[in-house]
Amino acid sequence: MPEGDTIFRAARTLNRALAGHKVEKFQSVFPKLTRVDVDQPLAGRTIELVEAQGKWLLMHLSGGLILLTHMLMSGSWHIYRIGEDWQMPQSAMRVMLATDNFVAVAFNIQIAEFHTADSLRRRAGFSALGPSLLASGFDETQAVARLTANPALEIGDALLKQSIVAGIGNVYKSEICFACGVNPFRKVSSLTQEEVQSLMAIARKFLRANVADSSGSQIVTYSGMRRTTSRANPEERLWVYKRAGEPCRRCGNPIASRKQGMDARVTFWCPQCQPVG
Ligand SMILES: [Zn+2]
Repeated sequence: MPEGDTIFRAARTLNRALAGHKVEKFQSVFPKLTRVDVDQPLAGRTIELVEAQGKWLLMHLSGGLILLTHMLMSGSWHIYRIGEDWQMPQSAMRVMLATDNFVAVAFNIQIAEFHTADSLRRRAGFSALGPSLLASGFDETQAVARLTANPALEIGDALLKQSIVAGIGNVYKSEICFACGVNPFRKVSSLTQEEVQSLMAIARKFLRANVADSSGSQIVTYSGMRRTTSRANPEERLWVYKRAGEPCRRCGNPIASRKQGMDARVTFWCPQCQPVG
């Protein structure tokens, strides 16, 4: 599943390419969207802002219309110059907006909806989003309050809940717990205030480091390279994720893995560096 940093990058790239430009062409395979296009045409509207909120991507259009999309497991937004070949088949296209210079294409996304600010506020799932780790005004007090309101959850599971804090996916869940020396199977109620604060601080640090802007004003698509170790070798870019059985980069003991939570997402950890008690 794309993590918050992936969505954030996608939103930033789209915003750079599209903001301030008029929609010249709109297409979608979703009848609900095309119906809105027939009633309140997209063409001629200005794309005012593209932003990420947690794992949601919002495209604000003039006239008070908001296109809300979620990439879930397999979706992605691509940006192309007019005439450039798409990296995905036409059949995977779900939504497409073209301006004078660029074509933005959402491939394989399953959730795409038009909203007004009002209907968005009432939308289930979206309105329940916790503070976004990548937001410049991240509300840590609120995030901590939402976390500690779920004392019976295991922390590895709690970090994935977008209603607690928005932006963490399965890769970072394990990496954050390792960096903090916290066993991912500990209950939230067992965490000290210091541990909670360190989890939030590291979560922000990792997500922000991965959206650090190295591309200047150039418009490039996301390359998929995520790192938490700050080691240059791409083979060593993560601490524990997908490293079951391999030696811990800190203590040399084998990394463990196990399914966790209602959704049975795999968690990786070092039993030595992240003891239970
Ligand atoms: Zn270790």
